[in-house]
Amino acid sequence: MAGSLAAGEGLEAVELAIRTAVTRLGGGMLERLLAADPGYRGPGTDCGAGHQAEFVSCRDKTAGTVLGPVTVSRAWYHCGQCGHGLAPRDAELGTAGQTMSPGLRKMAARAAEAVPFARGAGLVADLAGITLTSKRLGRHAEAGGRAAAAVIEAGAAAIAARTLVPLPPAGLPDKLYIAIDGTGVPMRAAETAGRPGKGEDGKARTREVKLACAFTQTKVDTDGYPIRDPDSSSYLATFAPAAGFGTLMAAEARRRGAGHVRQLTILGDGAHWICYPDVGIAYLIPVPRLSRRSPARPLAGPVSVIRAGIIRGGRGSR
Ligand SMILES: [Zn+2]
Repeated sequence: MAGSLAAGEGLEAVELAIRTAVTRLGGGMLERLLAADPGYRGPGTDCGAGHQAEFVSCRDKTAGTVLGPVTVSRAWYHCGQCGHGLAPRDAELGTAGQTMSPGLRKMAARAAEAVPFARGAGLVADLAGITLTSKRLGRHAEAGGRAAAAVIEAGAAAIAARTLVPLPPAGLPDKLYIAIDGTGVPMRAAETAGRPGKGEDGKARTREVKLACAFTQTKVDTDGYPIRDPDSSSYLATFAPAAGFGTLMAAEARRRGAGHVRQLTILGDGAHWICYPDVGIAYLIPVPRLSRRSPARPLAGPVSVIRAGIIRGGRGSR
């Protein structure tokens, strides 16, 4: 190594070479550590659905880790009644149904949320020395997104059905604002196949994503404009139709204390799906049918609906 430095290969080449060697060494250590318990739990084990799954054999599984690919030989069981197999060790390690370790999954998710998948794969390679294809990163991010969305949707459905009642937030604000809008997101052709569009050929090139932002503003700037409270914004974005969006938004609003604040203000542009009572905000508040032309209409109770023009320029509402 000292020779390489002296030969002018540079510090960068040397530090990267050392990292590669140390990572490989670490991967070997991790593999030996995991081999200490192959997860044999006797001739039978619970399949997860209340049956006895029978031990079949030890099977190898290779998972990506932050120390590179690691192969584990673990006991494999099969449940005759469910017709599926399982390795108790995978569940313990958090790798059941996964090709990446929890540590690498977290790393991949951070990269995938920061930049497009192809650049995310390069980011992981540069920063951690781990090779991931952009396809694998994309598959992982999409699976993670689907899982996270399922958790949020289940929570929202429970709040809508009143089987889950969120506690009002600590430090309940006096006023809560919710801005709602929709916008077209350009899509690959496969994502819009079969969807009618506005283009001359009748094909859709975008899909509408519905967005909501709940926030508070308690102070004004020197010109008297409200300032959004730092870290007070929570966001919602979904391709779901208006009714699905309404459920998600109502749950988020309740979670943010909409049912407890003195005044709730909805900011929207009067689009059909936002204003009409069978969709959008009606999931949150019982309002009479709004006129799309009504510029600003205070409603019965502590709710006012303000057209989006007022929030143009991001200066908040007045
Ligand atoms: Zn079973």
